[in-house]
Amino acid sequence: MMDENKFNERIQDLVEEAEDKPVRHEKKEKPQLKESIYSLRLDELKDWLQENGEKPFRATQIYEWLYEKRVKTFEEMSNLSKPLRDKLAASFALTTLSTIISQESKDGTIKFLFQLQDGYSIETVLMRHDYGNSVCVTTQVGCRIGCTFCAFTLGGLKRHLLAGEIVEQVVKVQQKLDEVGERVSHIVIMGIGEPFDNYDAMMNFLKVVNHEKGLNIGARHITVSTSGIVPKIYQFADEQLQINFALSLHAPNQELRQKLMPIARAYKLEKLMEAIKYYTEKTGRRVSFEYGLFGGENDSVEHAEELSKLIKGIKCHVNLIPVNYVPERNYVRTPRNQIFAFEKTLKKNGINVTIRREHGSDIDAACGQLRAKERAQETR
Ligand code: SAH
Repeated sequence: MMDENKFNERIQDLVEEAEDKPVRHEKKEKPQLKESIYSLRLDELKDWLQENGEKPFRATQIYEWLYEKRVKTFEEMSNLSKPLRDKLAASFALTTLSTIISQESKDGTIKFLFQLQDGYSIETVLMRHDYGNSVCVTTQVGCRIGCTFCAFTLGGLKRHLLAGEIVEQVVKVQQKLDEVGERVSHIVIMGIGEPFDNYDAMMNFLKVVNHEKGLNIGARHITVSTSGIVPKIYQFADEQLQINFALSLHAPNQELRQKLMPIARAYKLEKLMEAIKYYTEKTGRRVSFEYGLFGGENDSVEHAEELSKLIKGIKCHVNLIPVNYVPERNYVRTPRNQIFAFEKTLKKNGINVTIRREHGSDIDAACGQLRAKERAQETR
């Protein structure tokens, strides 16, 4: 069970952030991380070159080595001078993730366990769909949001990932797909962590993977999911991107949402829905509501009616997620006929709804199940 004090401290952080007070971070000696070359947007790389007495056009050449040829060492960047390659190697890391394990599921899903420079490990999942290959990326080591049904949050937040560590997850998966001549076509930011709690790194990640000289993955093929950090939703709306936006809603009222997701104590449902409306109006895009069905908690027809009222008039889509079993959590699955009854109620009320297909459940790769398990402790 979660340590009650730690849990309350985490919630306090969120409440303080909501009130614009500085956030307290874990006071712990942290090893120095070398910046990843993949963290840099093209314009940032140009600036760095200029500051280091080099021609800015080299940035495009470096990007080609990184994202088109996908080299594994600076040495291989053969059209750059030796002094420049040395300077790059002295300032940046090209490889910050090493693959500890890649495990393939019966349905073709591959779960990767990567070790970071400081010994922590993270997970990334490749999912095979009929429309393409989608990578589910992690944005933090652990998570401090504390959702009661989720395995990601069990050990708290260890640290944010660098933008480059998020980009490199996709590069590594692409390198794996290179072996069979396939391409990563979609990205979902739904792995471990809360992307809006690591906002700047997430934004740089988006800019790099979306850039035509970067991984060139279309904005409409990328989805970001948040537990609902309200100020960041406004900020994200103002970016005016074509990225798909998902909100983990999970409950049709404040009381229940607060029980399932303590973050709702910091950001009330009413304020959250105002932010969502702002997003849809500002961007003209629809929002995707993720609604996990937790047996006996939020999955009755009455809940479906209440949900319909809550989101009525919002340009949206509802994604129903049957709960994935997490041994440390007590939630049980909603029976199939009840899932369909829930879906039917939403449909009757004119709401777009789908039931999420599961991927890689035989290898613990499904939503909310990722965790580096005992390996994380070994490598720390
Ligand atoms: N922090 C972000 C993204 C990561 S989680 C967010 O909260 O949206 C991706 C999705 O999986 C979220 O909707 C999350 O609520 C859901 N999830 C977590 N644990 C789950 C579980 N045990 N069963 C089903 N869905 C779960």
